[in-house]
Amino acid sequence: MSERRNPAETPNECQPSDTLNVPNRRDFLKSLLVAGVVGASLLSGCARMKTDIILSEPSWRDGHLANREVLNVAKFIKDRYGVVLLTDNPLSSVEKLEKAVLLIGKQLAKYPPDLIYKSKIKKIKITEPYSLGYSYGGWISIAANEVSSQLHHEIAHEIYKSRGRGEWDLFLKHWGSLNAKGLNSYSLANCRPSPRPVGFTSWYGQCHLLEDIAEISEGLFASISQIEQICNEDPVVAKKVRMWKDELYRLTNGRIGPQYWEDLKAGKVNEKYWDKH
Ligand SMILES: [Zn+2]
Repeated sequence: MSERRNPAETPNECQPSDTLNVPNRRDFLKSLLVAGVVGASLLSGCARMKTDIILSEPSWRDGHLANREVLNVAKFIKDRYGVVLLTDNPLSSVEKLEKAVLLIGKQLAKYPPDLIYKSKIKKIKITEPYSLGYSYGGWISIAANEVSSQLHHEIAHEIYKSRGRGEWDLFLKHWGSLNAKGLNSYSLANCRPSPRPVGFTSWYGQCHLLEDIAEISEGLFASISQIEQICNEDPVVAKKVRMWKDELYRLTNGRIGPQYWEDLKAGKVNEKYWDKH
């Protein structure tokens, strides 16, 4: 069990984050070594909410994210996409946090800003050491060391959550009909680690139809060459990929179209891409 901090010397975790007395980066890292990881206290709802730190707030940026490149990326994410970055555990590793911010900037730049606005994504929380990703009502929570995959998966969830259920009914019905009848259906019984099942990009897609869509989207944005390879050998995956690409084309008025996928594969989609496309 880790040593607990002295309450007289440390901020109350239930105070609003903007009232916290912010130590400088060196003191901050030192306090980590003295106090250990906050641990169980972060698991309570109160502590989790109140220790959320908005990374775009000047006090925290200046105190902890000293790397100029990181500051610029946090600003780019806020200004271009209207998304605020948060973390609930800056004590763990500033370097890890900085790396995660840079990666989020790089991965988010793959989406036209309009799509993120339409999806109503407002906040991305970087968690560490927790490793699960989730999303809810405009919030996305991702693990610091899983940014490249989880971000795309959770963005896909928010894309369809932001649409009216009626708008998706036909789409979902059609998607579900692509799987071979009686084989690899969506169920908890199939929801367990296994080699890639036929018709899916990963075992996790079998857990639920919406997870299947999120996994396809994650594959496309995180590792398109690998997905194309799977499409060559699996016609069901190829149809699902086609459907999701068509949907993205429709949602972005063609900005995510054939040329985009070529550019993504060629590594040409960066922070400046949407200025010209
Ligand atoms: Zn999911």
